[in-house]
Amino acid sequence: MKILGIEHIGIAVESLDKSAPFWREVLKISHRTTETVESEGVVTDIFDTGSGKVELLSALSEDSPVGKFLAKRGPGIHHICLQVDDIRSAIVELKAAGVELVKDEPSVGAEGYLVVFVHPRSAGGVLVELAERR
Ligand code: ZN
Repeated sequence: MKILGIEHIGIAVESLDKSAPFWREVLKISHRTTETVESEGVVTDIFDTGSGKVELLSALSEDSPVGKFLAKRGPGIHHICLQVDDIRSAIVELKAAGVELVKDEPSVGAEGYLVVFVHPRSAGGVLVELAERR
């Protein structure tokens, strides 16, 4: 497993319409796409700084992971995502190191990346996503 960099920071928001203008109009970060990721129960607005993205995450339902996060903690940083060269070898290495994953198999995330999440219990309270660009 090789970490290639910070792919994005995921931020849980109550409303994309209310939150996006800060990133788009005040900070003037280019808006890349808006995408619905059914497998994660989110609509994501993706902004690209050119060296790492910001993904605003809006819950599709209250019982989705982001919906539960918002109910418990309110809006804010939800996860960080690191790009890896090979997600399947990363999963093998992490499990061998005793790291707890949310799911043991990669799923398809935003922009078609293969992703897996490290449980915050294994990462100092931080939800860490690993993503491989296909
Ligand atoms: Zn993410």
